[in-house]
Amino acid sequence: MDTQNLVADMKQTANNSYDEMLKQAAAHAHRYLHTIRERHAGVTEAALQRLTALGGSLPFHGEDPSSVLKLLDEAGSPATVASMGGRFFGGVIGGAFPVSVAAHWMADAWDQNACLFDISPVSAYLEDVVLAWVLDLLGLPANCIGAFVTGTQMADLTALAAARSAVLHKTGWDVERDGLFAAPPVTVIVGEEVHATMLKALALLGFGRGRVQIVPADSQGRMRPSLIARVQGPAILCAQVGNVNTGACDPVGEICDIAHSFGAWVHVDGAFGLWAAASSQRRHLVAGIDLADSWATDAHKWVNVPQDSGIAIVRDVEALRRSMSISASYYPPDPHAKRQPMQLGPDSSRRARAIEIWATLRSLGKRGVEELIDRTCGHAQKFANGLRVAGYEVLNDVVLNQVLVSFGDDEKTNRVIDAIQAEGTCWCGGTVWKERKAMRISVSSWATTDSDVTRSLEAILRIAAAGGRSGGSQREPVR
Ligand SMILES: *Cc1c(COP(=O)(O)O)cnc(C)c1O
Repeated sequence: MDTQNLVADMKQTANNSYDEMLKQAAAHAHRYLHTIRERHAGVTEAALQRLTALGGSLPFHGEDPSSVLKLLDEAGSPATVASMGGRFFGGVIGGAFPVSVAAHWMADAWDQNACLFDISPVSAYLEDVVLAWVLDLLGLPANCIGAFVTGTQMADLTALAAARSAVLHKTGWDVERDGLFAAPPVTVIVGEEVHATMLKALALLGFGRGRVQIVPADSQGRMRPSLIARVQGPAILCAQVGNVNTGACDPVGEICDIAHSFGAWVHVDGAFGLWAAASSQRRHLVAGIDLADSWATDAHKWVNVPQDSGIAIVRDVEALRRSMSISASYYPPDPHAKRQPMQLGPDSSRRARAIEIWATLRSLGKRGVEELIDRTCGHAQKFANGLRVAGYEVLNDVVLNQVLVSFGDDEKTNRVIDAIQAEGTCWCGGTVWKERKAMRISVSSWATTDSDVTRSLEAILRIAAAGGRSGGSQREPVR
């Protein structure tokens, strides 16, 4: 190796040390998070253009890791939406508490493979701890079992795999061994307002998106239990708490009574809505959830843990074990002695995603979770009141953290949404509710303050008053 190469190599090694890399990453992250509240809440056209700096073909020679990080910061971070700031209200997307990001970094330094207890005792142990805490917070039966997955869609899939196993097991059919092709038909019942990801989970499980019975919903999107038709044979009913548009919750208690009377398994999709159970003021909205057979939720929306924090919860321990079991000579022979995560969920190798949920819940405590839920719901109320006072129509009963507003006809509402997104003070998305175009404000972040609500309302009302023409901003447009 010639001297020049040797020097370059030594420099590369120094720049490759964990100390140096983490220090640089922390500096980039520090800058990002310290400017997040004042930057455009969305992504500008210029930022999208700059993404090409990250593309091209893979270079033959590697690059200095410091410059790789620098490039990622310079070209990558402007093409992020400001969901870590306090004025991003798009989707139902939370921010991430400082402790959750920090615990995630520690977990990254550990780089544990959470597949088996012996491969990562701390990961498996924390999953048991977090599951018990979540059951307690949500008022679910303490003897349920659970799995930690990427998000609520995968939690739906995981819980419904257990449901599929259980309802077919009752008929003597072993679906894990024999599949679905000659199995007794399973009736799947969903509400009219079923979330799109639930239909995808059903499709992945072989139930078919279009093979479902649909129960009509009321004006807020809640399933109408009196319209559930009695079913003969194996059946699974999927209820929902926390409609992505209105925040409304199906009357789960009543639904469980009816569905259980004909032997159906009741699954509850409660991505964010399930957390209403952690608030004494809002618990009544999800009354009866403890009667269901399985639940899907996540900590990345309303609990403000980083993405990749889905949780599947199942009452029938054996059904989940049957549907997820895996055996091989290199896996421990008694999967039941200790928690073996890969025997409970769809993944094998994966990151130890319970770590940051544990750190977040431990730092919040029960009171902190309740306060987060109540505070964000209070912000949603403030938005709704401000919009109503200004003469705009709020289309939903604001029971949780979701607000739907129309600024007039669909065309005007569209124009206002586009202008709000371009102006960049805050970011809200569009949706359609009962055939009307609406703007959706979802207050899901811990970082949103009273003054963020005031500032955002002021921008929304100013832009709406101008009919969605210009936002009066110097910021570059989004598209
Ligand atoms: C967000 C959401 C989902 C999907 O959750 P992911 O974490 O994105 O997979 C499912 N159901 C409801 C009601 C949701 O709000």
